Amino acid sequence: MPDCHKCGTKNPEGAQFCSRCGTKLTIFPRLEKKSRKPENSHSELKIQVILALIVLILIIVAILMSFIPGVGIKL
Ligand SMILES: [Zn+2]
Repeated sequence: MPDCHKCGTKNPEGAQFCSRCGTKLTIFPRLEKKSRKPENSHSELKIQVILALIVLILIIVAILMSFIPGVGIKL
């Protein structure tokens, strides 16, 4: 219910002007944009971390295999 700041008259929902004195009613905008989160950059970061971990694991496995005789890659 937007109340007129000038005369205090209660006006119907969605009214832009006071029904009594004609003063323009200021309706406070609802802050809905703040609830949005930038999820795209977050997921991209996760993928990069997972890829980095996979590469790291592969390097570790390759190093370990090279140390085990008979199993590893002979350099
Ligand atoms: Zn008014």
